[in-house]
Amino acid sequence: MKQERLFGLLNKLSITIKTFITMLHEFKCSQCGQDKKHESPVSTGYGTDKTGNKVCFECCGINDAKELNELPIGAKIVHYWDGKNIVNWPSSLVIAPYYTHKGKHNMAGTREDIYFKFNGANFHAVQYGNFSQIAHIRKTK
Ligand SMILES: [Zn+2]
Repeated sequence: MKQERLFGLLNKLSITIKTFITMLHEFKCSQCGQDKKHESPVSTGYGTDKTGNKVCFECCGINDAKELNELPIGAKIVHYWDGKNIVNWPSSLVIAPYYTHKGKHNMAGTREDIYFKFNGANFHAVQYGNFSQIAHIRKTK
């Protein structure tokens, strides 16, 4: 076997090894004041509010729930559809739908309509295509 060919083959066979270094994040939540420890290679364990303060995932869930409660009828908000539940960004708020319907969409290919109730209010969400979890939510009544 010629050397160039061998190198080509080795290149094809080469495996990319991703080394995940587990990092410990320690922070104080600016909202509940708790000292939080979060160990994860991929996330910091907190979100940031509009002024850049650190907010723990639990408080993110509380804030997102409050926002849904206070949303005016007809107003829109964006969260995520994981295929089973409507969730906020850190998944600290999880809402199960009472009805979903998958259909076709002329631009995105597919659309899924998701209906759910939250604290007595009705919401309708739409998610487009196979490569997005973004749910466009509207409070209906
Ligand atoms: Zn907090």
